[in-house]
Amino acid sequence: MSDKDDRRCDLHLHTNFSDGLLRPDTVVRKAKELGLAAIAISDHDAVGGIDIAIHVGRLLGVEVVPAIEMSCIYRKTDIHMLGFYMDYHNPDLLGFLYKVQQKRLERAQKMVSKLNQAGVALDIERVMAIAGGAALGRPHIAQALVERGLARTMDDAFNRFLGYHCSAYVPKMEIPPVEAIGFIKNYGGIPIAAHPGSYNDEELLNMLITSGLMGIEVYHPDHNAAKTEHYLEIAQKNRLFITGGSDCHGGRKGRLFIGCVTVPYRNLAAMKAYKGIP
Ligand code: AMP
Ligand code: ZN
Ligand code: FE
Ligand code: FE
Repeated sequence: MSDKDDRRCDLHLHTNFSDGLLRPDTVVRKAKELGLAAIAISDHDAVGGIDIAIHVGRLLGVEVVPAIEMSCIYRKTDIHMLGFYMDYHNPDLLGFLYKVQQKRLERAQKMVSKLNQAGVALDIERVMAIAGGAALGRPHIAQALVERGLARTMDDAFNRFLGYHCSAYVPKMEIPPVEAIGFIKNYGGIPIAAHPGSYNDEELLNMLITSGLMGIEVYHPDHNAAKTEHYLEIAQKNRLFITGGSDCHGGRKGRLFIGCVTVPYRNLAAMKAYKGIP
């Protein structure tokens, strides 16, 4: 094997099957333009975009890794859990995700009614149209607010209406992170803590490692150099997989773009070797 392998991978991307703006095939095309060797499609609580991406990836020569980003809650804090290489066609898995997505819809309905009670004239139909069948999230509500001139920007919508501290906020279905680890493993996947720097909870991270966590997303736009170094040390000390990616939402979450954070192919190769994937 050549010791000069310069292939790069972006292992955290969203599509319009959750709150990304781009279709899976567009994401793959962009990855190809950027010269990426592999990308992971990791939508929030959804796997519907994976097969299209794999198909287009085969045509274009971009390896597409099946993944998910599960939304978990621990002591009222949002914790995201990435799962790589799950058996994402399993009917039980799909049934569970359907339930999670139904709960997301009910939650959006509740948030819109709360906004209506506060005199903000927004209708759920428009929010659902924006989501277009995707796993419905606050970014879709935010976009509707901006579109109606009820908020200036997405940030403004989150700050005034949709953030935790706001009166219209409704929590999502509670999935404890330890349960997500079990769920991902149960379907043959590799559970990885997504951007742990966003909650900074060492005790929790240690507890997750004890509970079977298999990797840490060390490289992420929200991690500065110090945090990156910190999580790299933890991952190495515990012999965990090390992943990273741009968390690109195709523009819906600001300027983040595909490939702005990548990892060497050997990081992906380590997970593939574990899974016995050639
Ligand atoms: P939800 O899963 O419905 O609670 O929505 C959370 C999502 O909103 C996260 O994936 C973030 O990417 C996104 N988000 C959080 N804050 C903002 C913001 N200020 N602008 C755009 N998207 C945001
Ligand atoms: Zn998102
Ligand atoms: Fe996340
Ligand atoms: Fe994400």
